[in-house]
Amino acid sequence: MELDYEKIGLKVGLEIHQQLDTSTKLFCACKPELFKEEPEITFIRRLRPTQSELGQIDPAAYFEFQKGVKILYEADSRTACLVEMDEEPPHPLSMEAVEIALTAALMMNSTPVEEVHVMRKTVIDGSNTTGFQRTCVIALNGAIKVGEKTVPIQHVSLEEDAARKTGEEGTLIRYRIDRLGIPLIEVATAPVIKTPKEAGEVALAIGKILRATGKVKRGLGTIRQDLNISIVGGALTEIKGVQELELIPLVVEYEVQRQLNLIKISEELRKASVCEEDLKEEVFEVTEVFRQTACKVLRKAIDKNQKILALKLPKFKGFLKWELMPGIRLGTEMADRAKFWGRVGGIFHTDELPAYGITAQEVEVLRKAVQAQEHDAVVFVADAPENAMDALKAVIERAREALKGVPEETRAANPDGTTRYMRPRPGAARMYPETDIPPIRLTEEYLTRVKACLPELPEQKLQRLMRDYGLNQKLAKQIMDSEYIELFETVAGESKVSPTTIAVFLTETIKALKRNGIPVEKISENQIREIFKSLSLSEITKEALPEIVAWLAKNEGKSLREAVENLGLKTLSKEELEKIIDKVTDSNKDLIKKNKAKAFGALMGIVMKEVRGKADAELVSSLIKKKLEKNA
Ligand SMILES: [Zn+2]
Repeated sequence: MELDYEKIGLKVGLEIHQQLDTSTKLFCACKPELFKEEPEITFIRRLRPTQSELGQIDPAAYFEFQKGVKILYEADSRTACLVEMDEEPPHPLSMEAVEIALTAALMMNSTPVEEVHVMRKTVIDGSNTTGFQRTCVIALNGAIKVGEKTVPIQHVSLEEDAARKTGEEGTLIRYRIDRLGIPLIEVATAPVIKTPKEAGEVALAIGKILRATGKVKRGLGTIRQDLNISIVGGALTEIKGVQELELIPLVVEYEVQRQLNLIKISEELRKASVCEEDLKEEVFEVTEVFRQTACKVLRKAIDKNQKILALKLPKFKGFLKWELMPGIRLGTEMADRAKFWGRVGGIFHTDELPAYGITAQEVEVLRKAVQAQEHDAVVFVADAPENAMDALKAVIERAREALKGVPEETRAANPDGTTRYMRPRPGAARMYPETDIPPIRLTEEYLTRVKACLPELPEQKLQRLMRDYGLNQKLAKQIMDSEYIELFETVAGESKVSPTTIAVFLTETIKALKRNGIPVEKISENQIREIFKSLSLSEITKEALPEIVAWLAKNEGKSLREAVENLGLKTLSKEELEKIIDKVTDSNKDLIKKNKAKAFGALMGIVMKEVRGKADAELVSSLIKKKLEKNA
């Protein structure tokens, strides 16, 4: 059943981060690329909470610092230099990136700032070697049309991308700094989106405008969408890192479900007259209860001399297994908190037991050990005592929040559209000026120059594609949304092949090949241009394209000529074709006699089967017709 989102008071704001396709990074001359090989350089830093100018320390950052978390950074010299390593001040802002961001901002009707000021934004997870991310507002107060609706664009900013996490072992976290410093454009809408579907449409519209600049990176990981979601009676949840556009409506839907469930849980808990004072940090050591356990996780912990600590959640029985969204229960949320604040592997709770090798009898003994009443839930953790203690404190904290309803927090998107706890929502005053980089004035002259060459808006471009290339609307839309739009215009401009054929190839054929597991991304643009040149010279046929492309994708570095030879797809000459047709008509004399002109279809089928990929269907057809006329 469709929810009445208006009644629920759903409000969604989007923040879209898209990597720009520049020749250098934002603050140095390094290549804005990722490397796959083993790192040339590694270095370790301790995570340090940076103080903002106002002297505030982020509690989560301070906490990680206390835990002694260390970061191992991996780098190679092509994609990182002393700037990324925080051994050298940043170089001046890349004007190439400023121009792209400004172009996109103007296409979204935003007002450019007079001066671009680079700011520092505290980050707490080690994803920046400096402890902050550099960001600057380029333009403000824009708006775009999405269908009939005007969506305000609060700001368009330019930021440096963060390092990418590649692993985590205990208190050591690994990051690769190749991604650090790649220019990102950030586009933030006002929270005016009212339904999950609309959230998807707005994200798509912004994505199209960004792509229309022709200067943004393509492919998975180059765009990340953050969502701010709230409903009446719930709280503002920030969801980070949705990578797939198609996932956005689902993420919103799930978050609404989660908040509605949390509101219901708080009502039920209040009905059961649970109050905050009931939720005490009273922790029991219960290692002895599990001395003989068959549960592997507990067994391992006991063998390592760790402790099992437990606490009870009065009257919480049944609430921990309450499903908030698919596969995510209140117990899962408590486990996420325990993992974050206690750095433990997870928690056990009585709503899911007996299971995991833990018996009903053990549960009974456990309940007695913590003096649990019938309606109480018991949560326990096996780890080093201080970790287990922090984990249980986090569980109690989450239980207290459950009484109130929805906690304000930052969550991370999972690939299936659900989300997981990431950290508390950071407080205000996280920005302070970057003193190493002088402000940049956006002069009238400069703005006039950028304004003079703004790219077409997606709607204008669609009309032009239909008009200039005779594409139908569906195909024009498809090619525009594909990553091959520029290639399409290049190929259409230099070959005599019909634009529709080119567009169908670059959309449907490529997609079909991908579906069949062909690594089409291995085909270069030059190869595709060559294929179409060859096609317009009738050296190969339209029908042979999928086979040729598949072969080239699987045989990297080989040429088109080699593909054609290997596949035996060289176009037959007219003489060779006539010979084949003679042969076929000879062996089908009876058929021709009986059916006269109607035999054409059958003959066409037989011949095409024989010459598939080696002859143009139209030529075959005209030769057969000629032959039949001659015989008549
Ligand atoms: Zn660099």
